[in-house]
Amino acid sequence: MSDWARLQEEVTSDLQQARTTSELEAIRVKYLGRKGRLTEVLRSLAKLSEGQRRLVGQEANALRDFLESALTARRQALRQKELEQTLKEERLDVTLPPIPFPLGHRHPITQTLSEVVEIFTHMGFAIADGPELETDYYNFTALNIPPDHPARDMQDTFYLTEEWLLRTHTSPVQIHVMERQSPPLRIVAPGRVFRHEAIDASHSAVFHQVEGLAVDEGISFSDLKGTLSLFVRHCFGPSVGLRFRPSYFPFTEPSAEVDVQCLLCQGTGCRTCGGSGWIEMLGAGMVHPKVFEAVHYDPERYTGFAFGLGVERIAMLKFGVEDMRLFYENDVRLLEQIPRRWAWG
Ligand SMILES: [Zn+2]
Repeated sequence: MSDWARLQEEVTSDLQQARTTSELEAIRVKYLGRKGRLTEVLRSLAKLSEGQRRLVGQEANALRDFLESALTARRQALRQKELEQTLKEERLDVTLPPIPFPLGHRHPITQTLSEVVEIFTHMGFAIADGPELETDYYNFTALNIPPDHPARDMQDTFYLTEEWLLRTHTSPVQIHVMERQSPPLRIVAPGRVFRHEAIDASHSAVFHQVEGLAVDEGISFSDLKGTLSLFVRHCFGPSVGLRFRPSYFPFTEPSAEVDVQCLLCQGTGCRTCGGSGWIEMLGAGMVHPKVFEAVHYDPERYTGFAFGLGVERIAMLKFGVEDMRLFYENDVRLLEQIPRRWAWG
C-alpha cells in the first residue's frame, strides 16, 4: 500500500513539474510506455495469486485511469498556455512600415530592343522571327552577297560546317518572310547575331540587331527616309539631327547609312563620336532586285526598303554607356543605374 502511495505521489509531482507538452509526453512514456513503471506492474499481475492479482490490479488500474485523465487535463492546459505564448511572441504589428526590397527590371538591352520594336509596330510593322542558325544560302547568297565577298571570310563568320553558320545579321529573316508571304508586307525582325570579332569597347561577338523590311508597289526612297526619320525622332527626341549618307550594301541599291547627331556633345564633337558630332546609327536602302528574284517577287512590279540597326549602339547612346562590354558583365551596380522606364522623345 505504501508503494502505491509513493508511486501516486511521484506521478502527481511529475505532472505538476511538467512545463511543456513534450515534458508531459516524457511522463507518459515513463509510466505508461512499453517499459513504463505502471506497465511493468500490470504485466507482472500474471505471476500473482488470484487474490493478490485482484487487489493489485484494482490499484494499478485506478492509478492508470488517474494518470491518463490527469495527463489529458494537463496536456490541454499546457497546449492552451503554449498557444497563448506563441500568439504573444509572433504577434504582427500591421502598422509597421514594410521592409523595402529591390525590384528587378528588364536588362537594358532587352528594354532597348523591345522599345525599338514598339516604335515600328506603332507604324504598322509586324514582328518576324528567324533562326540564329542559318545556311550559307539565307545568310549570304539569297542576299546577293557573292562567294568572294569579304563578309563570307572565316575571319568574320562562325561557320559550323561548310553549309551551316551562325547568322551574321538579321537580314536572312527577310528572305524567310518573303518566301512565305506575298507583298505587301512590313516587318521588323529583332534578334541576336554573331560575328567572329575581337571584343572591345564597341565590338562584341554576340550582339543584337533589328531588321526592317517593307515591300509593296510604288515604295520609294522617300518612304524609307520618312520611316527612319520618324523612328529616330521617337527614339532620340524631336529635335535631334539626322543625315543620310550614300553607302554600299550588297542587298540594297541605292544604299545609305543614317547618322544621328551625337547626344553626348549635341553635335560639337566628343570622344564617343570621334569628334565628328555624328554617330552612325543604321544601314538602309532599297531592296536589290536580285534579292527579289531569289524569292520570286517581280522586281518590275514591286519595290521595297530594308534597314538594319544595332541595338547595343542605341542603348549605349540612350543610357550614356561608353563601353559595350558593361552590358554583358551584368554588374548589378551598373544595371541598377539604368532607368526602369525610358521616356521616348
Ligand atoms: Zn559627341
